[in-house]
Amino acid sequence: MKRIIFAVLAAVGLAVCAAAPAQAGKPAPTAAAAAYWGHWATQALVYDATGGTNSFKVSEAVAEWRKSGWNVVMTSDATKANIKVVAQNSTIEGAVGDASLVTSGSIITGCTVHLSPTFTYMNVGEHMAIHELGHCGGLPHSTSTKSVMYATTNSNTMMTKPSAQDIQWMAADY
Ligand SMILES: [Zn+2]
Repeated sequence: MKRIIFAVLAAVGLAVCAAAPAQAGKPAPTAAAAAYWGHWATQALVYDATGGTNSFKVSEAVAEWRKSGWNVVMTSDATKANIKVVAQNSTIEGAVGDASLVTSGSIITGCTVHLSPTFTYMNVGEHMAIHELGHCGGLPHSTSTKSVMYATTNSNTMMTKPSAQDIQWMAADY
């Protein structure tokens, strides 16, 4: 079992993701990259523990990613969830959000997302939820500034849903 943490770092209105790999597209999983390019073998059940604020729009993010064919749904039962989203500052300095994947071989079995409660203004919270849940689905960073999986964002590039290409990218493995 491995844990992989993705971070979004903030710098004066600019969110920057750390630990970005160099890949531009999502290749077929290989043994070497299996832990990173993981797949879900079972339904992904998302529990929103952000505490009642809808700034992060977790269920909307889940609904968007479902369009890819990824079998991900919300659950109100925290004990059954294998993806948990919490409003909590990342332990990574300067991060506004992160996603920590639990994998077994090339299979993703769990994911914990931290979204900083101080970054709920404009569409930041929504963008962060989609971005980090994208990592939970196995997507790395994109090199396209028009992708919700781009490593950074600002007021001009914030997105309220994944792009059509992002959906196709996620669909490539499901
Ligand atoms: Zn990221």
